[in-house]
This record gives sequence, C-alpha cells and structure tokens, in this order.
Amino acid sequence: MIKKYFSIIFLILILLASILSSDRSVRVMKNIFETGKDMEKEEQYIIVIDPGHGGRDPGKVGINNALEKDINLSIAFRLKNLLEQNDIKVIMTREEDIGLYSETDSNKKNADLNKRIEIIQTSKADLAVSIHQNSFGEEYVKGAQVFFHEQSTKGKRMAEIMQAQLIETIADGNHRKAKSNSNYYMLKKTECPFVIVECGYMSNRSEADLLLEDDYQEKMAWGIHLAILQFINEGGLDTKAK
Ligand SMILES: [Zn+2]
Repeated sequence: MIKKYFSIIFLILILLASILSSDRSVRVMKNIFETGKDMEKEEQYIIVIDPGHGGRDPGKVGINNALEKDINLSIAFRLKNLLEQNDIKVIMTREEDIGLYSETDSNKKNADLNKRIEIIQTSKADLAVSIHQNSFGEEYVKGAQVFFHEQSTKGKRMAEIMQAQLIETIADGNHRKAKSNSNYYMLKKTECPFVIVECGYMSNRSEADLLLEDDYQEKMAWGIHLAILQFINEGGLDTKAK
C-alpha cells in the first residue's frame, strides 16, 4: 500500500518537474523511479510449482478411476493463485495435460524429469514444490505426506512446516511426519530447496473421492500456501542455500 502511494506521489513529482525544471532533473527522477521498480522486482520470490506426471503418464490411477495427473494440475493451479495473491512469482512446469518430453526421446520418463529440473534451475527458483498423489496396496492407508531430500536443511524445515500445516488445515487425524528421501531423482538433482507433497492416497476410497472435490483441493492448496508463507516469514528463502 505504502509503496503504491509512494509511486503515485513520485509520478506526480516527475510530471511537476517536467513542467517546472530542466530535462536533466526529470531524467534523474525518472531514473530513481525506475530503479525503485527494479528493486521491487528483485525482492519478489520465485517459486516453481511442479504438477507431477501428465500426457501419456497418468501417475497413479485411483480406486475411483481418477487420474493423479489431473488432480496434481488442479491443486497446482489453486496453489499458484494463492501464492500470486501474495506477490510471489510462480512458474509452473506444466499448465496442460502434457508430458515434458519429445517424441524422439528414447527414455521419456527421464527426459520428462530432466526437463522439470531444467525449468527449476533456469527460472532461478527460490523454492520448488512438486504436487503428487500416493497409492498403496492396502486401502486403509491414507493422509497427506511431505518429502524432502535428506541432505537439504531447508527442504527438511519446509517439509516439516508443510506437514504440520496440512495436518491442521485438513484436520483428518493424519499422524504422518515429513519424510526424507535420498533416491528420488528430482529431490537429488534440484539446487534450490525442494519438497514433494503427496496430497493423499488414491487407493483409499474416501480420500480418492475427496481429492476430486473442489473444496478439498482448495483446502489442500490453502494449507500448502500457508506453509510456504510461514517458511518465507521465518527467513527460509533469504539465502540461496539448499
Ligand atoms: Zn506421482
């Protein structure tokens, strides 16, 4: 708000100056105004949201025949909206039902994951969040869980905040803890803090059905976004380290 007023006042000053004084002073003021804008831009956090799977890779197939790739994308869009409302720059690895490989790639799964990693690296992301759904052989297993790379201090902290927030927001009696993983390709290769949220189990009838509901997806995105804001507030993204 204050920044906005400042900008408006400054614009008025530039206008006045251009009427009253020399070209030079106008140029100097314009410069300050534009530099100020650049600084504001640099302060903006960049977060990559990565909706897992897509295209010919459906991910998990639910007990209700829902496809993981669709739920991932839908929750990702909701999360994007919420983060953008907080002046965070969001980049999505995909915004459509597509895989990130080309037809000539011999190993499409690898090409797809490498492309996602490349997007995270080239966007200079401060944080990356992958959205996935889980599945298990026994139907009773359910509940959201957040994963981080075992050697990432920040990833661990982000995951723990997110796990706690999801337990509070979803309020389904979930007792899961954030879990480290050292094998998952994207967790290993990404240079910025990175977490994977498995929002729920598509093998559990009630959770699989909930995951298709707008309200539930919104709640999930809300919880993830609150956790990210909390992480930012405690300085989690102030340095670039993983
Ligand atoms: Zn998945």
